[in-house]
Amino acid sequence: MNPIIEIQDLHAEIDEKEILTGISLRVLPGEVHAIMGPNGSGKSTLSKVLAGHPQYKASKGTVTFKNENLLEMSAELRARKGLFIGYQYPVEVAGVNNAEFLRLAYNTKQKEAGLEEADPLDFDMLLDEKMKFLDMDARFKERDLNSGFSGGEKKRNEILQLSILNPTLSILDETDSGLDIDALRIVASGLNKLRRSDNAFILITHYQRLLDYIEPNQVHVLSNGRIIRSGDKELAKELEEQGYDWLTK
Ligand code: ADP
Ligand code: MG
Repeated sequence: MNPIIEIQDLHAEIDEKEILTGISLRVLPGEVHAIMGPNGSGKSTLSKVLAGHPQYKASKGTVTFKNENLLEMSAELRARKGLFIGYQYPVEVAGVNNAEFLRLAYNTKQKEAGLEEADPLDFDMLLDEKMKFLDMDARFKERDLNSGFSGGEKKRNEILQLSILNPTLSILDETDSGLDIDALRIVASGLNKLRRSDNAFILITHYQRLLDYIEPNQVHVLSNGRIIRSGDKELAKELEEQGYDWLTK
């Protein structure tokens, strides 16, 4: 089985300072990988380099996404090819209606795949169906994108974006941060519903509590810009009990 993404010895820098110092990671279809690690270890940097953020430069190594060279693609093309990045701090966009934004994004993807675009009425039906599936309140549709959304609402909206866009690989940065236990459960159950044998998820998380609800195939610990330990979900439990010190010393 070909991996969805294969990262080999990836180095990356910000303003000529090396932040990622050699990351290798292979994610197969159907898998969920968790990336954990202390603050400042480079977790968000990894997601931004993969997204194609202009400030974050891959200086060495390769990234193959669905058998193609990811690092050569523009940020927009990466998204159109099925890479979704959920940021730690989602932007608020006043004046952009959430449902309209989702329809635009959905139609861009449909077009790319040579499929029919949805008019507002058809899309509204699709949206209703997805929102029901995710147990979301319909008033999310009418609000401006993320504008005034609580932390939990932003993350739930992110899951809605996932269910509409149906990405091959979703990289979610601290989706669990700032969520109370009920919001965490809703987000986790939404994610579990979206797991399929032909997609994959990389969950970046500082705490293991999200992994109580979503069982990862592998857990990796990032420290100083490289993966220092990989294991199964038991590794996350050990980290919860003992912190990161025993690994980084
Ligand atoms: P994590 O998400 O694991 O907490 P980050 O990837 O955010 O870590 O940060 C890794 C390192 O890169 C830190 O030392 C941080 O200060 C630095 N860094 C991240 N983003 C920037 C930026 N835009 N400009 C300068 N330094 C940055
Ligand atoms: Mg971070």
